[in-house]
Amino acid sequence: MTRPVSALSTREKSLIESLIRLSEINSGTLNEAGVNQVGALLSDMFCKRLSCDHQQRTLPPYTLFRSDGRAVENPLGDLHILSKRPDAPLQVLLTGHLDTVFPTESEFQQCQWLDDQTLKGPGVSDMKGGLLVMLEALSAFEQSPLAQRIGWTVILNPDEEIGSPGSAPILAQQAEHHDVGMIYEPALPNGQLAGERKGSGNFTAIIAGVAAHAGREHHLGRNAICAMAEYITAIDQLNGQRDGVTINVGIVNGGVTTNQVPDQAHCRFNIRTRIRADEQWCQQQLQTIGQQINSKEGISLALHGSFGRTPKMLDQAHLALFQLVTECSGQLGVPLSWEPTGGCCDGNNLSAAGLPNVDTLGVLGGNIHSHREFIRLPSLVERARLSTLILLRLAEQPETWRRQPMQ
Ligand SMILES: [Zn+2]
Repeated sequence: MTRPVSALSTREKSLIESLIRLSEINSGTLNEAGVNQVGALLSDMFCKRLSCDHQQRTLPPYTLFRSDGRAVENPLGDLHILSKRPDAPLQVLLTGHLDTVFPTESEFQQCQWLDDQTLKGPGVSDMKGGLLVMLEALSAFEQSPLAQRIGWTVILNPDEEIGSPGSAPILAQQAEHHDVGMIYEPALPNGQLAGERKGSGNFTAIIAGVAAHAGREHHLGRNAICAMAEYITAIDQLNGQRDGVTINVGIVNGGVTTNQVPDQAHCRFNIRTRIRADEQWCQQQLQTIGQQINSKEGISLALHGSFGRTPKMLDQAHLALFQLVTECSGQLGVPLSWEPTGGCCDGNNLSAAGLPNVDTLGVLGGNIHSHREFIRLPSLVERARLSTLILLRLAEQPETWRRQPMQ
């Protein structure tokens, strides 16, 4: 093992201390102050240890539909861009998200030891552990003379858990100027890397009907909840009609009281796609179903939303990069391979912008997005070693990894 890689073994204690500190600051996506606190702490750590440039960007607010169908603007935390050697022959883009899925009102705010190698806590795996792996790997890499051959940019974004609505344009723009992408999402539950990823879209359907007294004038009302029930049944029946496409209705609301015909209902749903052409098929189906609902007298349906993430497909450039990661992991004695997943992440965004990337370079753990989320602590150092070795290998032959212009 080269010296920068082996020297990482002394870092575990300090990494665990930082991890507990970061994880116990709530950074649910809509907790702007908490996300900013984590962003400030981390960007400070990056600047101090890596002597890099630092830019902080404000993002546009995120529009959320409340249970009564009204749109509300939510501010997002800031995005941080840290960079070094922008003129080096090979440019690597490393990304990680500051936010978690746990809001301020969640009961899950503290870390807890499960045994001497396992820590439970909000965001320990997804992905505060991964952010520390990224920092540690860059710090180790910077000890090597080969570091001069690579320039890098780190993006810490505040909104990945809601699909990166505010940071997507910056990710796409940065992706265009880099050759290789490294993302620090946790490993799959079996420790492997994610290969292909499904695409994803989030939608909100709002139905307006006509309110009326439930007893005196029931016949004058047009029931928005009943129309929504028909709509949901119809879109749910799209499941199984096209290979790899799933539709999940996740939230439904409507009505105020039982003695009124409800004039309002709304639902939110998520669609996953396997290939790009699936998006058009879904849009056509949604349009047809929407027209059926809209043809009912006194009922009107409005659909908001879009496919924020296209499927991540593995082309030759991705396969070459996955091969390199596999070789590096074999050298470290933990051989890895990759497998497809229905989940998506910023790796989808970077691929859509033509940047080959490996997006599960973060820690090993499990039960992410639940109150049982945990991390296997030895993976902090193991994964920092892996990323350091990948960077060193890229630096050995920078010209091999220069990105080919998009066809
Ligand atoms: Zn994540």
